[in-house]
Amino acid sequence: MTVSVALFTSDLRLHDNPVLHAAVRGADAVVPLFVRDDGIHRTGFDAPNRRAFLAGCLADLDAGLRRRGGRLVVREADVVAGVCAVVAETGAESVHVAAGVSGYAVRREERLRAALAEAGCTLHVHDAVVTALAPGRVVPAGRDHFAVFTPYFRRWEAAGVRGTLAAPRTVRVPDGVESAPLPERTGTAGVSPGLAEGGETAGRTLLTSWLHGPMDGYVTGHDDLAGDATSRLSPYLHFGCLSAAEAVHRARKKGGAGADAFVRQLAWRDFHHQVLAARPDASWADYRPRGDRWRSDAGEIEAWRAGLTGYPLVDAAMRQLTHEGWMHNRGRMLVASFLTKTLYVDWRVGARHFLDLLVDGDMANNQLNWQWVAGTGTDTRPNRVLNPVIQGKRFDPHGAYVRRWVPELAGLDGAAVHEPWKLTGRARARFDYPEPVVDLGEARARFERARGTG
Ligand SMILES: Cc1cc2nc3c(=O)[nH]c(=O)nc-3n(C[C@H](O)[C@H](O)[C@H](O)COP(=O)(O)OP(=O)(O)OC[C@H]3O[C@@H](n4cnc5c(N)ncnc54)[C@H](O)[C@@H]3O)c2cc1C
Repeated sequence: MTVSVALFTSDLRLHDNPVLHAAVRGADAVVPLFVRDDGIHRTGFDAPNRRAFLAGCLADLDAGLRRRGGRLVVREADVVAGVCAVVAETGAESVHVAAGVSGYAVRREERLRAALAEAGCTLHVHDAVVTALAPGRVVPAGRDHFAVFTPYFRRWEAAGVRGTLAAPRTVRVPDGVESAPLPERTGTAGVSPGLAEGGETAGRTLLTSWLHGPMDGYVTGHDDLAGDATSRLSPYLHFGCLSAAEAVHRARKKGGAGADAFVRQLAWRDFHHQVLAARPDASWADYRPRGDRWRSDAGEIEAWRAGLTGYPLVDAAMRQLTHEGWMHNRGRMLVASFLTKTLYVDWRVGARHFLDLLVDGDMANNQLNWQWVAGTGTDTRPNRVLNPVIQGKRFDPHGAYVRRWVPELAGLDGAAVHEPWKLTGRARARFDYPEPVVDLGEARARFERARGTG
């Protein structure tokens, strides 16, 4: 009997999973394996929200495998040691894994390749599992990656996304393979109270309902903070509970302007992955250094983290992050601009805080979006500064988003909620809310001087 191992990483799904598909087809029996790598603790990536979401993903994956006659095998070990142990115990001839772009994923692949070669076992690395289009699949002439999104997107569309694969009907797992218990979601300390539920089932349900309704309003609604009219699929895409390729195909099949705009966002996800694949250093180093000499005021940084800057839209978004482990994209752009340009604090401070809380926290998307906003990344207008009051009046015109997350200001009507400091005397005293941490005009001038544009 031949045995293969399907090593699950950022592809926690049964549908359209090239890793599982190839492992099932290539052997008589397969070990669907997830290794809870103790090394991940050292990367600082093992944050409570993602750990809790992951527990839901693994429980759902195990349930899906059991419905097909199999089960998930979990090991707690260094990932390479865990895989090698399963290979030795089962005599597996091949291991299948998705290609990844983070430094951690690249090192894992290198180490697996070396260790499995020694064990006489073949490693198969599958492309376009995590992304719709594999990094490097399209490149500009003479370069190894695209540094600007629009030309990338043109080539991305022309290249075409691979076809999708059905979930296996049956999964036969060799007898007697030991598994550690599945991790539990409950009992994880520090989890956001409004955290979404992990798993392929929840992700597929969300995708289906998104495609059959809300997606049609995406073009007009995607920036409406109170309307909350984006898909919220990012955690499911990050953990691979959903295949990006399948999401592209299903959206296109539905069609319309909303589908086009949604697919374009999925291409942004691929864009950042292809940047990080070519420039792994960009996870923590400036992609385009601007000679910044960042400020570091502990009080201001703490006010930003806590949602107490005195700028209601910034505070609302930061509190949404704490409460849900997720934040609307318009909020992410604003709070990142506020930290890196208005307060002129290093983007790495913000990216770290996001990684500590975001359920979709992702090396490619988080770090490169932070760099994009900070002007050290791929934005072609690196010095633009978002003004929280103007953004508030534009993207939360009735103040509903602010009132939802900043209850101290719930008594203020309409757009007045974006400028509470304009209240005076007794009216001001009614609201227990901080004064702005910084003057916007002075902060903008400071930033422009620093970047040499003022
Ligand atoms: C400072 C900052 C940090 C961010 N950190 C992350 C992160 O860690 N993980 C993450 O997945 N996204 C990140 N984003 C991108 C974006 O904000 C989220 O993907 C989006 O808000 C998720 O909500 P949604 O699923 O409803 O998105 P939708 O608007 O419904 O978009 C659909 C999908 O497209 C992808 N997408 C959308 N916008 C972007 C973008 N700008 N870059 C890359 N992919 C995109 C996501 O996978 C998303 O789920 C960040 C953006 C900023 C400005």
